[in-house]
Amino acid sequence: MKTEIKIGVFGDRKGDKTKIRLRKLRSLLYADRPVCCACGCEMPRHRRGGLCEDCERESLKLGADICNKCGRMIANEAEYCDTCKSRERAYRRARSCFVYDGKIRKLVHKLKFGGKRYLAAFFAEAIADRYLDCDYDCDCIVAVPLSAKRKLWRGYDQAELIAEELSAQLRLPLISGALVKVKDNKMQARLGLKEREENVRGVYELTDAAPFKGKRVLVIDDVLTTGATLGEVSKVIYKARARSVDCLTYASTRSLAPTENILDEEDYNEDEMV
Ligand SMILES: [Zn+2]
Ligand SMILES: [Zn+2]
Repeated sequence: MKTEIKIGVFGDRKGDKTKIRLRKLRSLLYADRPVCCACGCEMPRHRRGGLCEDCERESLKLGADICNKCGRMIANEAEYCDTCKSRERAYRRARSCFVYDGKIRKLVHKLKFGGKRYLAAFFAEAIADRYLDCDYDCDCIVAVPLSAKRKLWRGYDQAELIAEELSAQLRLPLISGALVKVKDNKMQARLGLKEREENVRGVYELTDAAPFKGKRVLVIDDVLTTGATLGEVSKVIYKARARSVDCLTYASTRSLAPTENILDEEDYNEDEMV
């Protein structure tokens, strides 16, 4: 019995030592090796945007086949989507990196409702690349703000986090605190097109117009759905006599049906996450 235990102990110790050596070797080989934000697999250091090759391939990257105005994916070869054909949006153009679907949708939820702030840096990398792709040329960045109440409740403002990272990456100044959300409106997610426009009217204000005057402004948000929010924000910024207002978001929805694109806390499910 005693011998058996000894053999066991020695055997385990030997095994443990081997395991430790392997772990050390592995940590030397893979020290700080980044992992994919969506699936958790290890990936090469040079990859930008936090997604491995497979996850990026599975996600719908936006480039061609988009609406010239709002940048959302369109199935036909039309120049503008149905929303932009029928509605005026104050911004000059909006563009996004991905279609808001699948893994991208989950990542947005993780940042927005799941407290995963580190994702902001990866979203900013993707947005910075998109900025260069679509030949934007802006003087400054501003984020679509949350109301003070909601920011306090959530602990952070996800669009502001992305904008901070983007500002560092593109070396463009970030205008902070000059654009505020003064009213907490209903969540946009469950509203129709017209209701969304009414819902955002008058909720954004400028506390200081000076930083926008004569500037080519880049507005940042996480998701564009119908463009109503970004349109309202752009309208407010134009009132400060900005030279132009362009928008960039990490993702944009592909359909008009708001119920297909739900984006609120009730739908956030931690179990869905990798
Ligand atoms: Zn992956
Ligand atoms: Zn459009």
